[in-house]
Amino acid sequence: MNRTVILSGLVLAVVLVVTLVGFAPSTGVTTDPEISAILSNVDSNRILNTAQTMQNFRTRQSCSDQPQPGQGVTAARDFLFSQYSSIPGLQVRLDPFVHPSCPNSPTFNVIAWLPGKRPNQLVIVGGHYDSRTSNTNDSTSDAPGGNDAGAQTAVVLELARVLAGHQFNSTIVFMSFAGEEQGLFGSASIAANLSRYFQQPQVIAMLNTDIPGGDNTANTAADLENFRLYSPGIPRERRGTDSRWHDRQHLSFPRCNALRWDLGRNLCSHHQYAPQIA
Ligand SMILES: [Zn+2]
Repeated sequence: MNRTVILSGLVLAVVLVVTLVGFAPSTGVTTDPEISAILSNVDSNRILNTAQTMQNFRTRQSCSDQPQPGQGVTAARDFLFSQYSSIPGLQVRLDPFVHPSCPNSPTFNVIAWLPGKRPNQLVIVGGHYDSRTSNTNDSTSDAPGGNDAGAQTAVVLELARVLAGHQFNSTIVFMSFAGEEQGLFGSASIAANLSRYFQQPQVIAMLNTDIPGGDNTANTAADLENFRLYSPGIPRERRGTDSRWHDRQHLSFPRCNALRWDLGRNLCSHHQYAPQIA
């Protein structure tokens, strides 16, 4: 993990907080004190520590459930469960699903939620915690995956920490998926089984983070100033003909280092609508 990655993760955490709670005020506009308080609690050192802890499990490949003690995906899962459980006000669950590559034992997402005033109205923020080598089915070799997926796991956990203790209209759900590297199995399962935990759930937004910050060797400086936004759009935009609202990729978002912000891989369509943000 290098400093650029961690700082970028911090920036993404700030962006996600602002998106979940409300839009950040620009210069000269009165600052919302609650948003400011939440933002000031985002801790880059905690993000770094969590990402490093995740890579210290050596591998988090989704079938690595019988490695050395303290290693593998099961140890990582238990760590995440304990971390979410230590945050006051969160409901925390291990969410089992059958992974086609390791069908003899269930694989688990770790999910937590902050109940809202409208309990079944959900805003989901997630990222996978499993890792892989170049061979996705290798469950024994080292796959530390600090940037993918230690970083996004750390960002989602930090969001849970800073948002806990506040009251929101929607229930905010934090999801750490497994089974993603072999085919997005964990997120597909929870998308189909939300009613296990919520009565008549209505998902109004899903923010998925993957490789927040990326790295500054595989990406150019310009890449580090971009993120991608996928959204089905609001009805007015879907009906409209303005080309700015359709089929745009790699939108420039100055001052934001978040590289990939895939909104709704499994829960929404991949159509895009955001205009260029000057
Ligand atoms: Zn990933």
